[in-house]
Amino acid sequence: MHNIRTTSPDLLTPALNRRHALLGTLGLLALPMATQHAVAAAPAKSKQAHPAVWPNASQVPGGVARLSLGPSAKRPTAFAGDVPLLVMGDAIEWTALLGIPLAATPGEASITVRAENGSEKQVAYTVTDKQYREQRLTVAPRTVDLSPEDEARYVRERDHQAGVMATLTDLRPDAVLQMRVPVPGRRSSSFGLRRVFNGQSRNPHSGMDIAAGTGTPVLAPLPGRVIDTGDYFFNGGTVWLDHGGGLLTMYCHLSRVDVKVGDVLKTGEKLAAVGATGRVTGPHLHWGVMLNRAMVDPALFIAA
Ligand SMILES: [Zn+2]
Repeated sequence: MHNIRTTSPDLLTPALNRRHALLGTLGLLALPMATQHAVAAAPAKSKQAHPAVWPNASQVPGGVARLSLGPSAKRPTAFAGDVPLLVMGDAIEWTALLGIPLAATPGEASITVRAENGSEKQVAYTVTDKQYREQRLTVAPRTVDLSPEDEARYVRERDHQAGVMATLTDLRPDAVLQMRVPVPGRRSSSFGLRRVFNGQSRNPHSGMDIAAGTGTPVLAPLPGRVIDTGDYFFNGGTVWLDHGGGLLTMYCHLSRVDVKVGDVLKTGEKLAAVGATGRVTGPHLHWGVMLNRAMVDPALFIAA
Protein backbone atom coordinates (compact mmCIF):
# COMPACT_ATOMS: atom_id res chain seq x y z
CA MET A 1 0.00 0.00 0.00
CA HIS A 2 2.92 2.31 0.56
CA ASN A 3 3.51 3.15 -3.08
CA ILE A 4 -0.07 2.72 -4.14
CA ARG A 5 -0.35 6.30 -5.27
CA THR A 6 3.00 6.88 -6.88
CA THR A 7 1.58 8.33 -10.05
CA SER A 8 -1.70 9.75 -8.90
CA PRO A 9 -1.69 13.52 -9.01
CA ASP A 10 -4.88 13.91 -7.08
CA LEU A 11 -5.51 11.63 -4.27
CA LEU A 12 -8.74 12.39 -2.61
CA THR A 13 -11.79 14.36 -3.11
CA PRO A 14 -11.78 16.06 0.30
CA ALA A 15 -8.25 17.31 -0.27
CA LEU A 16 -9.14 18.82 -3.58
CA ASN A 17 -12.33 20.34 -2.34
CA ARG A 18 -10.52 22.03 0.44
CA ARG A 19 -7.74 23.21 -1.81
CA HIS A 20 -10.17 24.61 -4.31
CA ALA A 21 -12.20 26.25 -1.59
CA LEU A 22 -8.99 27.80 -0.38
CA LEU A 23 -8.09 28.94 -3.85
CA GLY A 24 -11.49 30.49 -4.21
CA THR A 25 -11.04 32.64 -1.13
CA LEU A 26 -7.35 33.29 -1.60
CA GLY A 27 -7.41 33.85 -5.31
CA LEU A 28 -6.29 37.43 -4.91
CA LEU A 29 -3.30 36.27 -2.91
CA ALA A 30 -2.41 33.50 -5.31
CA LEU A 31 -2.17 35.69 -8.38
CA PRO A 32 0.32 38.25 -7.03
CA MET A 33 2.53 35.32 -6.01
CA ALA A 34 2.67 34.20 -9.60
CA THR A 35 3.53 37.74 -10.65
CA GLN A 36 6.32 37.96 -8.10
CA HIS A 37 7.78 34.77 -9.45
CA ALA A 38 7.92 36.17 -12.96
CA VAL A 39 9.44 39.45 -11.79
CA ALA A 40 12.06 37.69 -9.66
CA ALA A 41 13.06 35.52 -12.61
CA ALA A 42 13.50 38.41 -15.02
CA PRO A 43 17.02 39.63 -14.11
CA ALA A 44 18.52 36.14 -14.45
CA LYS A 45 16.99 35.72 -17.87
CA SER A 46 18.78 38.71 -19.34
CA LYS A 47 22.10 36.92 -18.76
CA GLN A 48 21.10 33.87 -20.76
CA ALA A 49 22.27 33.30 -24.29
CA HIS A 50 18.84 32.01 -25.32
CA PRO A 51 16.37 33.80 -23.07
CA ALA A 52 13.31 32.48 -24.87
CA VAL A 53 14.35 28.83 -24.73
CA TRP A 54 15.06 27.67 -21.21
CA PRO A 55 12.82 27.11 -18.23
CA ASN A 56 13.78 28.91 -15.04
CA ALA A 57 16.36 27.05 -13.01
CA SER A 58 15.55 26.17 -9.39
CA GLN A 59 17.86 23.64 -7.78
CA VAL A 60 15.42 22.29 -5.23
CA PRO A 61 13.52 19.01 -5.01
CA GLY A 62 10.90 19.22 -7.78
CA GLY A 63 12.95 21.88 -9.57
CA VAL A 64 15.18 22.04 -12.61
CA ALA A 65 18.96 22.52 -12.85
CA ARG A 66 20.75 23.89 -15.90
CA LEU A 67 24.23 22.40 -15.90
CA SER A 68 26.95 23.63 -18.24
CA LEU A 69 28.81 20.84 -20.01
CA GLY A 70 31.26 23.14 -21.80
CA PRO A 71 32.25 23.08 -25.47
CA SER A 72 32.62 20.04 -27.72
CA ALA A 73 32.20 19.43 -31.42
CA LYS A 74 29.48 16.82 -30.92
CA ARG A 75 26.62 16.76 -28.45
CA PRO A 76 27.74 14.93 -25.28
CA THR A 77 25.41 12.54 -23.50
CA ALA A 78 24.59 13.05 -19.85
CA PHE A 79 22.94 10.83 -17.25
CA ALA A 80 21.42 11.07 -13.81
CA GLY A 81 22.10 7.54 -12.59
CA ASP A 82 21.28 5.61 -15.74
CA VAL A 83 18.53 7.97 -16.96
CA PRO A 84 19.60 10.05 -20.00
CA LEU A 85 19.25 13.82 -19.66
CA LEU A 86 18.06 16.47 -22.05
CA VAL A 87 21.13 18.17 -23.59
CA MET A 88 20.86 21.29 -25.74
CA GLY A 89 23.28 23.78 -27.21
CA ASP A 90 26.01 23.91 -29.82
CA ALA A 91 29.75 23.29 -30.19
CA ILE A 92 30.49 26.39 -28.09
CA GLU A 93 28.39 25.45 -25.09
CA TRP A 94 26.27 22.43 -24.24
CA THR A 95 23.81 22.46 -21.36
CA ALA A 96 22.11 19.57 -19.58
CA LEU A 97 18.65 20.23 -18.21
CA LEU A 98 18.08 18.09 -15.13
CA GLY A 99 14.76 17.41 -13.46
CA ILE A 100 15.29 16.99 -9.70
CA PRO A 101 12.82 14.54 -8.12
CA LEU A 102 10.62 15.76 -5.29
CA ALA A 103 12.12 12.95 -3.20
CA ALA A 104 15.70 14.16 -3.79
CA THR A 105 17.86 14.65 -0.71
CA PRO A 106 19.24 18.21 -0.37
CA GLY A 107 23.02 18.44 -0.68
CA GLU A 108 25.73 17.69 -3.22
CA ALA A 109 25.01 15.47 -6.22
CA SER A 110 26.40 14.96 -9.69
CA ILE A 111 25.54 13.86 -13.19
CA THR A 112 27.71 11.77 -15.50
CA VAL A 113 28.75 13.29 -18.82
CA ARG A 114 30.07 11.07 -21.58
CA ALA A 115 32.03 12.50 -24.51
CA GLU A 116 31.93 11.02 -27.98
CA ASN A 117 35.25 9.24 -27.40
CA GLY A 118 33.72 7.47 -24.42
CA SER A 119 35.53 9.45 -21.71
CA GLU A 120 33.36 10.29 -18.70
CA LYS A 121 33.35 13.09 -16.17
CA GLN A 122 31.11 14.11 -13.28
CA VAL A 123 29.45 17.49 -13.16
CA ALA A 124 28.48 18.45 -9.62
CA TYR A 125 25.46 20.45 -8.50
CA THR A 126 23.84 21.31 -5.20
CA VAL A 127 20.23 20.62 -4.31
CA THR A 128 18.93 23.27 -1.93
CA ASP A 129 16.27 22.30 0.57
CA LYS A 130 12.72 23.54 0.01
CA GLN A 131 10.02 23.27 2.60
CA TYR A 132 6.84 22.59 0.73
CA ARG A 133 3.62 23.19 2.57
CA GLU A 134 2.00 20.30 4.37
CA GLN A 135 -1.67 19.46 4.45
CA ARG A 136 -2.99 17.25 7.24
CA LEU A 137 -6.45 15.85 6.84
CA THR A 138 -8.61 13.40 8.68
CA VAL A 139 -11.05 11.63 6.43
CA ALA A 140 -13.24 8.53 6.50
CA PRO A 141 -10.99 5.46 6.12
CA ARG A 142 -13.12 4.31 3.20
CA THR A 143 -11.85 7.25 1.12
CA VAL A 144 -8.19 6.40 1.81
CA ASP A 145 -8.19 2.62 1.45
CA LEU A 146 -8.86 1.08 -1.93
CA SER A 147 -11.02 -1.98 -2.45
CA PRO A 148 -9.06 -5.02 -3.72
CA GLU A 149 -10.60 -4.50 -7.16
CA ASP A 150 -9.64 -0.84 -7.30
CA GLU A 151 -6.16 -1.62 -6.06
CA ALA A 152 -5.68 -4.29 -8.74
CA ARG A 153 -6.84 -1.79 -11.37
CA TYR A 154 -4.53 0.85 -9.99
CA VAL A 155 -1.50 -1.47 -10.04
CA ARG A 156 -2.17 -2.36 -13.70
CA GLU A 157 -2.46 1.30 -14.60
CA ARG A 158 0.64 2.23 -12.66
CA ASP A 159 2.70 -0.36 -14.55
CA HIS A 160 1.33 0.89 -17.86
CA GLN A 161 2.11 4.49 -16.93
CA ALA A 162 5.65 3.54 -15.91
CA GLY A 163 6.23 2.42 -19.49
CA VAL A 164 4.80 5.69 -20.80
CA MET A 165 7.05 7.69 -18.48
CA ALA A 166 10.17 5.95 -19.79
CA THR A 167 9.56 7.41 -23.27
CA LEU A 168 12.72 8.96 -24.67
CA THR A 169 12.95 10.39 -28.18
CA ASP A 170 15.32 12.85 -29.81
CA LEU A 171 14.92 16.51 -29.05
CA ARG A 172 14.13 18.65 -32.09
CA PRO A 173 17.16 20.75 -33.05
CA ASP A 174 15.01 23.89 -32.87
CA ALA A 175 13.36 22.91 -29.60
CA VAL A 176 12.12 25.62 -27.27
CA LEU A 177 11.37 24.55 -23.71
CA GLN A 178 9.38 27.50 -22.43
CA MET A 179 5.70 26.62 -22.47
CA ARG A 180 2.42 28.42 -22.85
CA VAL A 181 -0.17 27.55 -20.26
CA PRO A 182 -2.41 24.74 -21.52
CA VAL A 183 -5.55 26.37 -20.10
CA PRO A 184 -6.21 29.94 -19.01
CA GLY A 185 -7.33 30.12 -15.40
CA ARG A 186 -6.22 30.49 -11.84
CA ARG A 187 -3.06 28.47 -11.30
CA SER A 188 -2.56 26.86 -7.91
CA SER A 189 0.84 26.86 -6.27
CA SER A 190 0.19 23.44 -4.77
CA PHE A 191 3.07 21.68 -6.55
CA GLY A 192 5.01 19.75 -3.92
CA LEU A 193 2.26 20.03 -1.31
CA ARG A 194 2.91 17.24 1.21
CA ARG A 195 -0.24 15.39 2.10
CA VAL A 196 -0.89 13.48 5.28
CA PHE A 197 -4.18 11.62 5.55
CA ASN A 198 -5.18 10.14 8.87
CA GLY A 199 -1.56 10.49 9.98
CA GLN A 200 -0.16 8.62 6.96
CA SER A 201 2.13 10.42 4.53
CA ARG A 202 1.16 10.19 0.89
CA ASN A 203 3.08 11.18 -2.16
CA PRO A 204 3.24 14.94 -2.61
CA HIS A 205 1.20 16.75 -5.22
CA SER A 206 3.31 16.46 -8.36
CA GLY A 207 1.68 18.90 -10.74
CA MET A 208 -0.13 22.19 -11.13
CA ASP A 209 -3.90 22.47 -10.83
CA ILE A 210 -5.53 25.07 -13.03
CA ALA A 211 -9.10 26.04 -12.25
CA ALA A 212 -11.31 25.89 -15.35
CA GLY A 213 -14.83 24.79 -16.19
CA THR A 214 -15.71 21.46 -17.75
CA GLY A 215 -15.31 21.66 -21.52
CA THR A 216 -12.60 24.34 -21.52
CA PRO A 217 -10.15 23.45 -24.32
CA VAL A 218 -6.75 22.13 -23.26
CA LEU A 219 -4.02 23.30 -25.64
CA ALA A 220 -0.57 21.87 -26.31
CA PRO A 221 2.02 24.02 -24.50
CA LEU A 222 4.77 22.99 -26.93
CA PRO A 223 5.00 20.93 -30.10
CA GLY A 224 4.65 17.30 -29.11
CA ARG A 225 3.51 13.81 -29.98
CA VAL A 226 0.70 12.01 -28.18
CA ILE A 227 2.16 8.93 -26.46
CA ASP A 228 -0.75 7.85 -24.27
CA THR A 229 -4.43 8.43 -23.74
CA GLY A 230 -6.68 6.66 -21.28
CA ASP A 231 -9.23 6.78 -18.51
CA TYR A 232 -7.46 5.97 -15.27
CA PHE A 233 -8.65 5.32 -11.74
CA PHE A 234 -7.07 8.33 -10.06
CA ASN A 235 -6.22 10.55 -13.02
CA GLY A 236 -9.44 10.09 -15.02
CA GLY A 237 -9.28 11.10 -18.67
CA THR A 238 -5.59 11.52 -19.39
CA VAL A 239 -3.26 12.53 -22.23
CA TRP A 240 0.53 12.33 -22.25
CA LEU A 241 2.64 14.32 -24.71
CA ASP A 242 6.28 13.69 -25.62
CA HIS A 243 8.31 16.83 -26.41
CA GLY A 244 11.61 15.01 -26.96
CA GLY A 245 14.71 14.66 -24.85
CA GLY A 246 12.79 13.03 -21.99
CA LEU A 247 10.50 16.04 -21.54
CA LEU A 248 6.90 14.83 -21.19
CA THR A 249 3.69 16.54 -20.11
CA MET A 250 0.48 15.03 -18.75
CA TYR A 251 -3.10 16.30 -18.58
CA CYS A 252 -5.60 14.70 -16.18
CA HIS A 253 -9.27 14.66 -15.18
CA LEU A 254 -10.28 15.42 -18.78
CA SER A 255 -13.93 15.28 -19.78
CA ARG A 256 -13.01 14.56 -23.39
CA VAL A 257 -9.88 13.48 -25.24
CA ASP A 258 -9.60 14.81 -28.80
CA VAL A 259 -6.36 13.12 -29.87
CA LYS A 260 -5.02 9.61 -30.31
CA VAL A 261 -1.62 8.04 -29.79
CA GLY A 262 0.75 9.04 -32.57
CA ASP A 263 -0.87 12.42 -33.30
CA VAL A 264 1.66 15.22 -33.67
CA LEU A 265 0.54 18.57 -32.24
CA LYS A 266 1.73 22.10 -32.74
CA THR A 267 1.85 24.61 -29.91
CA GLY A 268 -1.67 25.78 -29.18
CA GLU A 269 -3.45 22.84 -30.82
CA LYS A 270 -6.38 21.46 -28.87
CA LEU A 271 -5.86 18.05 -27.33
CA ALA A 272 -8.72 17.66 -24.87
CA ALA A 273 -11.29 19.36 -22.67
CA VAL A 274 -11.15 20.07 -18.94
CA GLY A 275 -13.29 17.84 -16.73
CA ALA A 276 -13.68 16.25 -13.32
CA THR A 277 -12.99 12.59 -14.12
CA GLY A 278 -11.01 10.28 -11.84
CA ARG A 279 -10.74 10.86 -8.11
CA VAL A 280 -11.93 14.46 -7.94
CA THR A 281 -15.21 16.25 -7.57
CA GLY A 282 -14.49 19.66 -9.03
CA PRO A 283 -13.48 20.36 -12.64
CA HIS A 284 -9.90 21.51 -13.12
CA LEU A 285 -6.85 20.60 -15.15
CA HIS A 286 -4.06 18.72 -13.42
CA TRP A 287 -0.97 19.50 -15.45
CA GLY A 288 2.22 17.53 -14.94
CA VAL A 289 5.67 18.16 -16.41
CA MET A 290 8.17 15.30 -16.36
CA LEU A 291 11.87 15.61 -17.12
CA ASN A 292 14.22 12.60 -17.03
CA ARG A 293 11.36 10.73 -15.28
CA ALA A 294 11.10 13.30 -12.48
CA MET A 295 7.90 15.30 -12.02
CA VAL A 296 8.97 18.93 -11.82
CA ASP A 297 7.17 22.20 -11.13
CA PRO A 298 5.33 23.27 -14.31
CA ALA A 299 5.55 26.91 -13.19
CA LEU A 300 9.27 26.87 -14.06
CA PHE A 301 8.39 26.25 -17.71
CA ILE A 302 5.76 28.92 -18.21
CA ALA A 303 6.97 31.73 -20.43
CA ALA A 304 6.76 35.01 -18.54
ZN1 LIG B 1 -3.56 18.10 -9.17
